Amino acid sequence: MVTTINHWIGGKEVAGKGSRKGAVFNPATGEQTGEIVLATTAELDAAVQVAQEAAPAWQATTPLRRARILNAFLRILETRTKELAACISAEHGKVLSDAMGEVQRGMEVVEFATAAPSLLKGEYTENVGTKVDSWSTRQPLGVVAGITPFNFPAMVPMWMFPTALACGNTFILKPSERDPSASLLIARWLKEAGLPDGVFNVVQGDKEAVDAILHNPGISAVSFVGSTPIARYIYSTGTANGKRVQALGGAKNHMIIMPDADMDQAVDALMGAAYGSAGERCMAISVAVPVGDGTAEALLKKLEPKVRALKVGPGTDADAEMGPLVTKQHYDKVKGYIDQGVKEGAKLVVDGRGFKMQGYENGYFLGGTIFDHVTTDMTIYKEEIFGPVLSMVRAKSYDEAATMINKHEYGNGTAIFTRDGDAAREFAQSIQVGMVGVNVPIPVPMAFHSFGGWKASLFGDHHMHGPEGIRFYTKLKTITSRWPTGIRSGAEFVMPTMK
Ligand code: NAD
Repeated sequence: MVTTINHWIGGKEVAGKGSRKGAVFNPATGEQTGEIVLATTAELDAAVQVAQEAAPAWQATTPLRRARILNAFLRILETRTKELAACISAEHGKVLSDAMGEVQRGMEVVEFATAAPSLLKGEYTENVGTKVDSWSTRQPLGVVAGITPFNFPAMVPMWMFPTALACGNTFILKPSERDPSASLLIARWLKEAGLPDGVFNVVQGDKEAVDAILHNPGISAVSFVGSTPIARYIYSTGTANGKRVQALGGAKNHMIIMPDADMDQAVDALMGAAYGSAGERCMAISVAVPVGDGTAEALLKKLEPKVRALKVGPGTDADAEMGPLVTKQHYDKVKGYIDQGVKEGAKLVVDGRGFKMQGYENGYFLGGTIFDHVTTDMTIYKEEIFGPVLSMVRAKSYDEAATMINKHEYGNGTAIFTRDGDAAREFAQSIQVGMVGVNVPIPVPMAFHSFGGWKASLFGDHHMHGPEGIRFYTKLKTITSRWPTGIRSGAEFVMPTMK
């Protein structure tokens, strides 16, 4: 049965009126399970109108009351984590335990946002001049929008809207058209938690809806997460239209393995970081950089059998470690990169292309893949593959490994595995990447810190959630006041200074 997945506008489901449609598939079976009616510009504009109408009352709602609604939403998420995770797994393909983890990381941002009254406290200085006081406050921007990728259909929206709402903004979410159902569960549960109608809206769509967001003057800010070419486009178009924009892009995350690393720990870390969620994570490790041939051989000896033994299966299989890729199109793209790697001369140690899942022959399953002797001029090194493909680039020294990372176009995440404090400290301090792990393969910052990469992995000035999220979703106002008003010193034509 194919279900129609609607928009959510003004506190209720709204059927799309457009003529173009998008199909949603179960990646494990290849069956179409859903359909969205892609929004037109007029439908997006109508949703913005609803969000604008809801904005004054929401802005006037006390931060404490806003926080209580988010708290009620958090309680709902706690009791229905599995329902949301199952919804994610059915459209994305990731295994249920991984989807539960995604929901958990999203909930942590909601938890952070429930501290809104404390987070929005301003600063105050008494007597900046004689009987003159000054204070600053952070005020909401108005209507803000979020445009999100397929790989975290619940967590990435939750990087955005809890903070935006806590700060007093109203929100338009344009989720990925590949796995749109999670956004509707979220919308329904926010309403159940007491969120007024029109404060959180979902518009299902593709480029037309995105362009409508970028051009609608009623939207003050845009948060984007997705691939780098689109992030670049969102940033340049959004800012040219006077909007505040944070646009997070793609990644190619390297892990350096030093000769002194605990090899078992490094191999376990690589298995999870390279193959978890079938490599469809912006913080996945896709390049392993062992320092020295001895390290490379030792690593490969332990890694290869584990990759061959990876338990691949549908998201519903509790024993599966890795699910299918999201769509047939993406499966073909990743397979094409493996073909390309072979053509360019990398050594294919484990080939995932032949993998067939019994009983799920039409699913988009690919086995774990390892390339050795990858060089920095190869396409599989330069481009983001976003699949279960690990490239090994051997380095002769730490300096060669670090230089390689610094020269790469992307700068999202990176890690070093070592027992040497000196090397670890040098790495953390000087590597040109936004999120760094020391013996931690996926250094995703907690909700009360902020998430974001460098270089072509982020366009804009603010990272997401944490203190950066509060700054992004508010504008600063500073007030200077004099009491009592009776003091007169006559007109002054010079720059005011403290006397
Ligand atoms: P994508 O760029 O294809 O799509 C992201 C969003 O942009 C979707 O909502 C989509 O509808 C919209 N979009 C797609 N093409 C568009 C176009 N031509 N014009 C306007 N809008 C368009 O990304 P994806 O395939 O959904 O997600 C995977 C990518 O996201 C990877 O590159 C991954 O690294 C990246 N990602 C980055 C982070 C991060 O934090 N840096 C996190 C998660 C995912």
